[in-house]
Parts: sequence; structure tokens; C-alpha cells
Amino acid sequence: MRTSRYLLATLKENPVEAVVVSHRLMLRAGLIRQVASGIYDWLPTGMRVLSKVEAIIREEMNKKGAIEISMPVVQPAELWHESGRYVKYGPELCRLKDRKQNEFVLGPTHEEVVTAIARNEIKSARQLPLNLYQIQTKFRDEVRPRFGVMRGREFIMKDAYSFHVDHASLEQTYQDMYDAYSAVFTRLGLTFRAVEADTGSIGGNHSHEFQVLADAGEDTIAYSDASDYAANIEMAEALAPQEERGAPQDPYSKAPTPGCHTVDEAAGALNIPSDNVLKSLVVHAAYEVDEDGKRVDDKPLELVMLCLRGNQELNEIKAAKLGGIADPIEFATEEEIAAYTGAHPGSLGPVDFKGRIIFDRAAEKMSNFACGANEDGYHFINVNLDRDIPKYEVADIRNVEEGDPSPDGKGTLHLRKGIEVGQVFMLGTKYSEAMGATVTDKNGKNIPMEMGCYGIGVTRVVAAAIEQHHDDKGIVWPDAMAPFTVGIIALGLGKSEEVKNAAEKLYKELEDLGVEVLYDDRDERAGVMFSDMELIGVPHVVVIGAKNLANGQVEYKNRRTDARENVKVEDILAFIKEKIGR
Ligand code: ATP
Ligand code: MG
Repeated sequence: MRTSRYLLATLKENPVEAVVVSHRLMLRAGLIRQVASGIYDWLPTGMRVLSKVEAIIREEMNKKGAIEISMPVVQPAELWHESGRYVKYGPELCRLKDRKQNEFVLGPTHEEVVTAIARNEIKSARQLPLNLYQIQTKFRDEVRPRFGVMRGREFIMKDAYSFHVDHASLEQTYQDMYDAYSAVFTRLGLTFRAVEADTGSIGGNHSHEFQVLADAGEDTIAYSDASDYAANIEMAEALAPQEERGAPQDPYSKAPTPGCHTVDEAAGALNIPSDNVLKSLVVHAAYEVDEDGKRVDDKPLELVMLCLRGNQELNEIKAAKLGGIADPIEFATEEEIAAYTGAHPGSLGPVDFKGRIIFDRAAEKMSNFACGANEDGYHFINVNLDRDIPKYEVADIRNVEEGDPSPDGKGTLHLRKGIEVGQVFMLGTKYSEAMGATVTDKNGKNIPMEMGCYGIGVTRVVAAAIEQHHDDKGIVWPDAMAPFTVGIIALGLGKSEEVKNAAEKLYKELEDLGVEVLYDDRDERAGVMFSDMELIGVPHVVVIGAKNLANGQVEYKNRRTDARENVKVEDILAFIKEKIGR
């Protein structure tokens, strides 16, 4: 590729809207441009990288016997009603109508469409297992699109769906996909972990996420230092503390805490440590909804109080799974709380709270603690479970913390940030049952097919790779992802016939070999050409200038190591071939 005939689209200035490195570098290196919030163009350099990622994914999927198909982005709402997700998926699902008022959705994922394929095409258990995949555009109307293509609204996913006659077969394919994903991310040169994960709105009962380790990650993963336990913090179990709860002392009493709204403020006013103050959070109990997600029962709204140690954090995913609580978690509003308790957030506590009370396992060990008095500006002190709060449940509802014991009983947990680049799910029969995708088993009985589904965020992978591989000059691609393998910079092209001839010759030789070359023939200032090459991260660069050439030499520069060396003109092709393993 000649730079003069290409759309390099690099930017000198740092785009102000980009807060993470990958977003900034993807804009500056001319990989992407924003069209609307969370919606992007992929420019030529970005497209080259994306195609490489897609090719590797395809190869590894095909190796495991998965078969490529293509399903539509625009999907009939009817299918989503059948699965029950038309409402359940919530506002991330973009719903639209055609000119005849038929309802459609923009596919955020394709379980419904693929299950319809299976229902229509698979007649006999002998056709199973079958694993179908596509690499295709998804649309999710994310609340907060951010970090460029890392959390876009329109993005590309590789999604695969497998169908099985029994669970054992599903387990086999799940393992195959797990192995394929490990192979993909290893080939892409990423440092990643596979972690136990929540199944979210996709559903199912067993799942792993593939997390690229990077500080810009939105996920937190917990891993043990003494075993291979690793889980998304959403899932990581906090074990009950070993200690016995202390004995109650003085009867509880009311203490003024005027103007205190947080645990720390209350602890300060009461002069006690914040881990001896109870954090009381109030959420909606579960209620019934209709097809459109509107509440149907006209009973008064019930609230549930979740109690934690003052210095620990609620885990909304674990809490929502307890049952009887709105899932996803809905925090009660100030007005709802005031109507229910007579007090405002900041002064709430479980003593005489009329709704259901759930104590976290660690909070259950607290004794003689302080909590809100359900009266504005007051707390109770010396409160004790059983004695002062006779009815409560105990559950694991907090986030694990650095230093907690690992739930597998081996070692201590540590936390790291991760970017979720892929997820594999065992779905079971959730969709096949709802949509009637059945086969006849060997006893002639009609049974719903077991299903698995497996996604990779193809566009997000590119951003995640940059988060891990960059320096102050730009992107330092893992070899497998580089948009070009070799760069040629011709210095003073317009002034020197020799430079021009040498550059053209090397360019042609490399092109003939099928090497991906970016030949900067713009006759620009040297500084501009160097910084562009570094910014877009071309791994191997040959600099051809009149001075060196007069001595029969060109210069080689390595992007990763920054090493430079002079090479004889007649040796440069062999030299490069050796560097790139050709
Ligand atoms: P997240 O928790 O990050 O919102 P998810 O768990 O909802 O993602 P999945 O349904 O598992 O996403 O989709 C499969 C893959 O698609 C994810 O692992 C991720 O890499 C990618 N992905 C999901 N949402 C987005 C998005 N908004 N922008 C870019 N990639 C995404
Ligand atoms: Mg996921």
C-alpha cells in the first residue's frame, strides 16, 4: 500500500473526548471515527486489524467443527415474544416498526433467530451435535456507551450456538469452545484469564468469561493466589467469617447524628469505627409485570432492606438472585422510603423495619453495632441481632475484597481489572423449550435440544489489545494483529532518484512476496513519516535516505524494541524476510 493512495487518517492532536488509551490511539492512528454516540466507522487501518482478528477467530472455530452462517440484524419481535425476552431484555433492546406497523428488533444477540433455525431444520437427533456461528453486527442501546468501541452501541460479535441431544454432548462442545477461545486469545498475543461468570440476560446455568487484564477494564475479577480459582466479582462467593458473633452488652439507645448521610459521617459523629456501623440499603421486592414490563398487581409496594458492614459493598448480582427481590436490583426512591419507614436514606436501619430484612454473612457477625433509627438525624447504638432484630435472613450479598479467603478453600483472593472479550454459556433448554425446538430421541420421545452459546466481542478485542500493547508513541501491535507487517519510509523522495528507485524496488519485492507493506511515498517531513509509522504501530520499518544509500546502506527499525541497525541495500530483503519468518 502506498501512503499517498491510502486513507491514513492519523491525527496529531489528542482527541479530548477519549479518556482511555485505546480510544485515543484508535482515533489518532486513524482506525475509527465516531458517527454517533457508540456508533463508529472503521477506517482502512482499523479494517485491516479487524479482518485479522476475524480470520483467526474463523480458523479456530472451523477447527472445532463450527459452521458459519449469517443471520439478520433486523429480527421479528414475534421471536422475542416467544422466548419471553421482548420485555425482559429491557431498554437495551432497540425496537422498531416497519411501514406496515410490523414490530421488529435490532439483534443484540441471536438466540431467538438461531433457535428458530434449529426448530425448522433439525428433525432428528442424528443431526446433532451442531454448532452454528456468524461474525456479525449487533446493536445494544447501552445506557452509557463509552471508551470508543470498547462499549459501543453497534459492534461486531462472533456468536456461536450449539445444539445437542443431551447434556454430555453440550459439555463436550462447551469445552471445545473454551479451548478455541483460549487458542484465539493466545494467538492474538493477549494476556487473559478465563473466569467463572454470571449468565445475565442470556440465561443458562454455567458460564465463563474471557477477561483481558487491563486497568481500563470495567470488570473486576477475583483470583486465588493458591489455586486456579478465578471469577468475575459478580459471582465470587464471600465465605462467612469463621468468628463467633460477640455477646450483646448494653440495651440499645438512640444517639443524635444530625446531618449524617453516609456510614463514615455517622461513624464520625458517634466516634466509632465505620465497620461497626451497619449499612442499610432499601430495594424493591419482586412484583409482577405484564408483556410491556408494566406492574400488574395493585398491592402496595413492598421494600426489602439489605444490611452490610459499613465498610463493605453490596453485590447487586448476588442479591438479585436471592429471589423475591426485583431483578435487576431497583433501589427504592427517597419518597418510597420516607412513606414506608418515616425516615430518609442515611437514617435507615433494621430495628422495627416492617419489610423483609437480609443480613450479609459478614454483617451477621456484628454485635453492639450502630444503625439508622428510621428517624431523620438519629442512629441507634448497641444494636444486636436476635435481641433487637428478631426476624432476618442471612445471605452472601457483598463483594469479595482483596485478602478474603478463596471460596474453594485454597489461598487468598486478589482483585484485578479485566476487559470482557468473550463469554461461553451452557444454556440448557431455556430457548429450545420456550420456542419448541425439539428432536426425537432414540426412544421416539420428543425432547427439547440442549443448547450452548459462545460470543467474542470482535471490535472490543481490538481496543483491549491496544490497552495492553502501547507506549507513549502509539500502538505496539501483537504480531498477529498489526495492520501492516513492514513499513518503508523514503526520505527526500522528490530530490533523489536513488532513494526513489531503492524504495520502489523493495516495495515491489515485498509486495510480490505477499508481505503487507505500507510504503510512505508522500515526500513528507521525516518527523511526520516516523511518527505516523510509530503511531499505527508497524512492527518492522525500513528507512531509505540519500546519505545512507550513498554508503550502500538502509536503516532498519524495530517498533517493539526500538532497536535500529544499518543493513546493506542488497541484504535488506533477506534481512526482512528473516525478521518476519518468511
Ligand atoms: P458487558 O458485560 O460488557 O456488557 P455482556 O456480558 O453483556 O457484555 P455478551 O452478551 O456476553 O456481553 O456478549 C459477548 C461479547 O460481546 C462480550 O464478551 C463482549 O466482548 C462483547 N460486547 C458486549 N457488549 C458490547 C458492547 N456494548 N460493545 C462492544 N462489545 C460488546
Ligand atoms: Mg458477557
